[in-house]
Amino acid sequence: MTDTLKIIDLHVAVEGTPILRGVNLEMKRGETHALMGPNGSGKSTLGLAIMGHPGYEVSQGRIELNGENILEMAPDERARAGIFLAFQRPVAIPGVKMADFLRHAATNVRNPDRKEGEDLIPMREFRQEVRSRMSQLRMDDQFARRYVNDGFSGGEMKRAEILQLAMLQPKFAVLDETDSGLDADAVRLASQSIAEIGGAEMGLLIITHHDKLLEHNPPDFTHVMLGGRIVETGGIELANELHTQGYDRIRASHPDAEADNKAMLDKEEPQGVS
Ligand code: ADP
Ligand code: MG
Repeated sequence: MTDTLKIIDLHVAVEGTPILRGVNLEMKRGETHALMGPNGSGKSTLGLAIMGHPGYEVSQGRIELNGENILEMAPDERARAGIFLAFQRPVAIPGVKMADFLRHAATNVRNPDRKEGEDLIPMREFRQEVRSRMSQLRMDDQFARRYVNDGFSGGEMKRAEILQLAMLQPKFAVLDETDSGLDADAVRLASQSIAEIGGAEMGLLIITHHDKLLEHNPPDFTHVMLGGRIVETGGIELANELHTQGYDRIRASHPDAEADNKAMLDKEEPQGVS
């Protein structure tokens, strides 16, 4: 059976404010889905809700992995079950080295029943694997010795997320603007790496505003989010339309969703999360 991730009528609120208003989305392993939509439409909220961020309250709906509701699972259990989120804004963990973080995370995902304190992936084996992944991503060896995201440039943080993707090999990955903050060469490298790593093996939900990532990872489906719901789904031609023409047609065709989108943005602080 092909692994399937299914989001059914998902409603999510943050601090009591409704953000997602009935999202439906079904992905199979091996498929690439693009998730597009203007700022503040709820794309990152969907990613965080899939991963189980405790600040994102699910008030209605289900998320199923192979028919099993994962909403009761903690984020680490979801990760062990094969779900991964590359953060739009990764957080720093001073004191925790990239190498130690990756070794623990990869061990736990590969051996989901492992108890804390039980054996990690042997050091030699792990080091070889991480080195080869880092060279694939053109990352300096030094990287593994630094604290997770501590003082990383925007581009380094995004590459660190891709390195995690490579090491954890999830069934389903949400990549939240993994191409933002990168220069043109870095975007090309990141796009190629994601294609090599994810390729046919994973179900990818790619949140992006740019065409480069999708050029290397052509979507089987494109979804457009507005006002906390998916208002249109199409093929790659829909992504191309949005890249060249923007969201005017979408906003005009879905006035209720547009009104909700605008209301959410108006609530934001000037430096609000988007
Ligand atoms: P997108 O990723 O599509 O730009 P987000 O999911 O980040 O949109 O945000 C959708 C809406 O939810 C925005 O209005 C945003 O301000 C609000 N929101 C998201 N996360 C938070 C949060 N942690 N606290 C307060 N508001 C939030
Ligand atoms: Mg976002």
